[in-house]
Amino acid sequence: MSDQPQTRQPRTRLYVDSPLAEGQAVGLDHERAHFLRHVLRLDKGDVVAVFNGRDGEWLAAIDGFGKGWCSLAVTTQRRAQQDGPDLWLLFAPIKRGRIDFVAEKATELGVSRLWPVFTRRTDPNRVNTDRLRANAIEAAEQSERLTVPEMSEPMQLEKALAAWPAERTLYLCAEAGNVRPIAEAVREKGQGSKPGPAAFLIGPEGGFAQSELDEICKLSSVVPVGLGPRILRADTAVVAALACWQALSGDWTAHGGDTRPPFRSPAESAV
Ligand code: SAH
Repeated sequence: MSDQPQTRQPRTRLYVDSPLAEGQAVGLDHERAHFLRHVLRLDKGDVVAVFNGRDGEWLAAIDGFGKGWCSLAVTTQRRAQQDGPDLWLLFAPIKRGRIDFVAEKATELGVSRLWPVFTRRTDPNRVNTDRLRANAIEAAEQSERLTVPEMSEPMQLEKALAAWPAERTLYLCAEAGNVRPIAEAVREKGQGSKPGPAAFLIGPEGGFAQSELDEICKLSSVVPVGLGPRILRADTAVVAALACWQALSGDWTAHGGDTRPPFRSPAESAV
């Protein structure tokens, strides 16, 4: 409450659904209101940052709290909307805890779509997409993304591949069979310019069945890749593959966009 407007730094960052523009009022639900008031102990007048995946990032001041609600008044735009890489992650559901980790880490690593797919040896036969989405939202808020990954409806892998867009490279992370080292394959595709649409497919803890790998490889956009000589757990494979893609052809490279997080002092960012 005491900060002068020009020195006000947002106390937290929230994803909201509502449109964002100067003067817009934004209402927060019970959970968010509780978080701001009782966990962060914010007060009327305190400033937070908000984003909705469409209108960029804005500063908003807490307008008032009520029983189970909080309202914000949107003031100034902090960042214009910018889309991240066009990178999907298809993954076979794994146990709770590990799948939460996948949603969180994939979001931090810039994935634009999370898509659970059931394969022959997938163990859990259901997936809680609401929980995955909640994990993704929290990770988007924390990592200063301007978007939250889309959440695709979970389905059988064959069904997902049946309507596969031809222009989207599908890197199949295969623990068996003929593959190219991931770095070699990604570097070749991403050479020189902005990378085209891409996706990674990671199998279940039980691995892919050979017949399944054969089927997937029939698709013309598939590039089977290897992640080295060790078997990685599915969650490790997700992080390793995405980090590799980002470093070789994604937004960790200089493709004209920002390669460092925003709002850090020059001293901190000039490493
Ligand atoms: N149980 C299987 C391994 C499954 S690992 C076995 O013992 O053979 C889970 C998933 O992670 C795999 O389906 C694959 O998509 C990915 N993965 C793990 N290690 C990999 C590697 N060395 N190369 C490529 N993909 C790998």
